[in-house]
Amino acid sequence: MGLLDGKNALIFGLANERSIAWGITQAFKREGANIGISYAGEMLEKRVKPLAEKVDCKWVEECDVTRDDQIALAAEKAAKHFGKIDVLVHSIAFAGRDELSKPYHETSREGFKTAMEISVFSLVALTNAFLPILNPNASIMCLTYYGSVKVAPHYNVMGVAKAALESSTRYLAYDLGPQKIRVNAISAGPIRTLAAAGVGGFRDMYKHFADMSPMRENITIEDVGNSAVFLASDLSKRITGEVLYVDSGFNTVGVQMSGKEEQSE
Ligand code: NAP
Repeated sequence: MGLLDGKNALIFGLANERSIAWGITQAFKREGANIGISYAGEMLEKRVKPLAEKVDCKWVEECDVTRDDQIALAAEKAAKHFGKIDVLVHSIAFAGRDELSKPYHETSREGFKTAMEISVFSLVALTNAFLPILNPNASIMCLTYYGSVKVAPHYNVMGVAKAALESSTRYLAYDLGPQKIRVNAISAGPIRTLAAAGVGGFRDMYKHFADMSPMRENITIEDVGNSAVFLASDLSKRITGEVLYVDSGFNTVGVQMSGKEEQSE
């Protein structure tokens, strides 16, 4: 018996087999969920369709979250195909490369708006559009990063967006609580994905993370997938408005020293 047997789960933000959304999709499939996958644009269709086939997913729909008409159409199609939805995963973010390499104070007005629209408002818009077809006990989740609470060099406007995303998680959780619908965020440690490649200095940060985290290792999309199963399942029935860290403990440490430095004492 799987933890998600009989649950209908929609996953937004699958780009390729390195995507966090793919780790979540595979874990959901393993636990018995019926999966629906949404991708951003025509360009991705070729890459996403074969992945969808691997998990026996029959609902594969385009949805650019900057377009209200596409969000509404995706909700309509999901209603027709699934009837009701139990799990909605938001694994979407975007900021222009320029904004993730220059100093934060040079962020452009357009760059700020775009990052906030795609990475934050989209969670609100998707929640609102899918609310009529969410079952009681449904679980909504999004992906965030520690750069929301502490400075991660070069993460810039995306850190500010993640702070707003985490805050949105709490406000949405408050709104939907009476309907027993839960909203949570997973704060993942750095993972080599397409989105991460756009962040200046990511490679160094990735390496530093493995040296400095209490568990001395990086995390994988499988780790995130397994935590997403917990949040999607009834095991987390009374957990809402929370940020769950999946980061080998990195966020718990105030003064970071690598294992090597400690040994040389
Ligand atoms: P990814 O594979 O590149 O996924 C990002 C997804 O966002 C892509 O599918 C992308 O589609 C989609 N997206 C961008 N603009 C969109 C739009 N207008 N409409 C719909 N979808 C759009 O990278 P990822 O690392 O797995 O990112 C998934 C989530 O995890 C993001 O929220 C990210 O911030 C978060 N996260 C990542 C890390 C990390 O280190 N990788 C750590 C913590 C949290 P396109 O490719 O077409 O743009």
